[in-house]
Amino acid sequence: AGLSKAGANYNMALQDVEKGVVTRFPPEPSGYLHIGHLKAALLNDYFAHEMYKGTLLLRFDDTNPSKEKQEYQDAIIEDLKLVGIKPDKTSYTSDYLEVLYQYCIRMIKEGHAYADDTDQDTMRDERMKGIKSKNRDKSVEENLAIFEEMKAGSEIGQKNAIRAKMSIDNPNKAMRDPVIYRCNLLPHHRTGNAWKMYPTYDFACPIVDSLEGVTHALRTTEYTDRNPQYQWFLDNLKLRQVHMWDFARMNFIRTVLSKRKLTKLVDAGIVWGWDDPRMPTIRGVRRHGMTLGALRDFILKQGPSRNIVTMDWTNFWASNKKEIDPIAPRHTAVETKDPVKATITNGPAEAYTEEKPLHAKTPAVGTKKVGYSKHLILDQADVKLFKQDEEITLMNWGNAIVRKIVGSDPITEIELELHLEGDVKKTQWKVTWLSTTPQDLVEAEVWEFDHLFTKDKLEEEDNWEDFINKDSASKTIQLCDANVASLKEDDIIQLERKGYFRVDKPAKDGKGLVLFGIPTGRTK
Ligand code: ATP
Ligand code: MG
Ligand code: MG
Repeated sequence: AGLSKAGANYNMALQDVEKGVVTRFPPEPSGYLHIGHLKAALLNDYFAHEMYKGTLLLRFDDTNPSKEKQEYQDAIIEDLKLVGIKPDKTSYTSDYLEVLYQYCIRMIKEGHAYADDTDQDTMRDERMKGIKSKNRDKSVEENLAIFEEMKAGSEIGQKNAIRAKMSIDNPNKAMRDPVIYRCNLLPHHRTGNAWKMYPTYDFACPIVDSLEGVTHALRTTEYTDRNPQYQWFLDNLKLRQVHMWDFARMNFIRTVLSKRKLTKLVDAGIVWGWDDPRMPTIRGVRRHGMTLGALRDFILKQGPSRNIVTMDWTNFWASNKKEIDPIAPRHTAVETKDPVKATITNGPAEAYTEEKPLHAKTPAVGTKKVGYSKHLILDQADVKLFKQDEEITLMNWGNAIVRKIVGSDPITEIELELHLEGDVKKTQWKVTWLSTTPQDLVEAEVWEFDHLFTKDKLEEEDNWEDFINKDSASKTIQLCDANVASLKEDDIIQLERKGYFRVDKPAKDGKGLVLFGIPTGRTK
């Protein structure tokens, strides 16, 4: 079921909503938000705020100092604000470290958890095979003592982990005594050195969900196997119940949506940063020219179904084009590589400018100054197609006859004779042009971007780094009409016949303009 901007209904409802609905978005501050996270955030926001007039919590799942940073936490808050998601409360799992510690002690005392110093590989192997750990039957006293060693971060403590005593050989491997606490001596970005051990997500999430009054926990379907585990914690600790709702994670072709992998791309310098226009982060797609409105609509339209599909970027960008096309002011540019000088033999004696609409179909967009004179420049690629004495159209001016062509490959100059009474419908070539006077043309660095990966669907067994596209950004230099000098950062324009562009850096004193090409859905 689709969802319109106005907020139509999904064909689904949460159960038990009479006493109110509380959802939560629980990002780990281990990277910037990507568009997959945005789907989770928007769904939680939609159910809480639009569908049930309830409460949305933002909770930072911050119990792993090896991956988390203040920078990421700040960026997540900013990005949610940017996309118009307003959590009613913000909390941090790290605020519950004392509470969770007490719950773990209770689990140990009640015989539901034990300390295990089995090394990681052996533990993994035993879990796979359903073999009982040699430490499973330690006494409560021993377990409590080791837990205190872990709390102190001692050598013994660091060798141990606490595991929940769920099952040795449950067919669902998520139920085979999962780890719930481990040591980490790195300082935490919020709690510093107060703690030397941290609860795992599996342990912390159900407890904090329950304590914070979450009524419906939405998770992506990779967690479905872990739902019984979540339930086990609630049951064993006699905590308030929480409904689970699983939805499909979002995937795109030629794209990785994983903070771990995206961090690698940033750290390896393959992209310019988290906001690189090739990155599938909220910042990246914005910088690539996706509007916030189109982004929200596109993602909400995916809905909360459980069917996992890999999406194509075509529709993503096509929905953006629908939004920007009617309002993007139109400008003109000519590439500086082999531009062709055109002299209009019967052109105006004096150069002049005229006020013209910035958008042929939307007058409200405003006007620009268009320069006219005998002296023009045209794109090499266009002029190459002209034949001697052929009638062509200079767009937004009129027809002209090609009287002389100088040079070939590249053509350096041509002469045109204006033929304004000619029928623009009858010419084969309608080309853009720029008068070199009386305006000061503005040079722009124009970037076009391609996908970061060369393989449509990266499989689990693929070494994803082998499929990085080494040629995902290309640059040309273009001369633009003088009006672009006043464009501001983030403005979206059309360069006629070349496409849509976002202003990444505005011109300063006529210099330094940087434009990023916005895909339209046709080519990418
Ligand atoms: P990543 O691998 O990118 O770090 P994660 O699931 O570990 O993803 P979290 O910060 O824990 O990242 O995720 C916050 C929420 O976003 C979770 O509810 C998670 O299920 C959801 N989420 C993450 N990736 C996607 C995705 N591709 N599509 C939909 N939801 C997602
Ligand atoms: Mg996670
Ligand atoms: Mg992940």
